[in-house]
Amino acid sequence: MGIKFIVDNNVGKLAKWLRIMGYDTVFFNAEDDSNMIATALAEGRVVLTRDTQIMKRRVVTSGQLKAILIESDKPEQQKHQVIATLNLDCQYRPFTICLECNHPLLEKSKQQVEDLVPPYVFQTQSQFMECPACHRIYWRGTHWQAMTKKLVKFMKG
Ligand SMILES: [Zn+2]
Repeated sequence: MGIKFIVDNNVGKLAKWLRIMGYDTVFFNAEDDSNMIATALAEGRVVLTRDTQIMKRRVVTSGQLKAILIESDKPEQQKHQVIATLNLDCQYRPFTICLECNHPLLEKSKQQVEDLVPPYVFQTQSQFMECPACHRIYWRGTHWQAMTKKLVKFMKG
């Protein structure tokens, strides 16, 4: 089982990047931190936050719940801290999770998506995935490759 995350709304940009790598990541966008803690405990998720108060909670100090205090307010630095701290694999499972809603993607045949993607994409791509929740269609196009490459380069550099 891979590591799973819950991202506090003060570091929201991390959610998309973790999903790009293929890590199951829930975005928490509500006022009450207790709900975030409860979800993290129930689902075994690592908390990513800039809120020092969360780090002082007993579930965190006792080690029952793993939480990482994000030091920088710059998204690039934040990414770097998480990847380096947990030794994450930038190419863990790219192209498996919906970037919008964190749902696992399902493979689709070319025929199944013919009417759903632009003609150019249909002609040039061979692998397609669909999010069963929001019905967004993904393909292994240049966008995805560029994002993964950028991550790998970023971590090496
Ligand atoms: Zn979706």
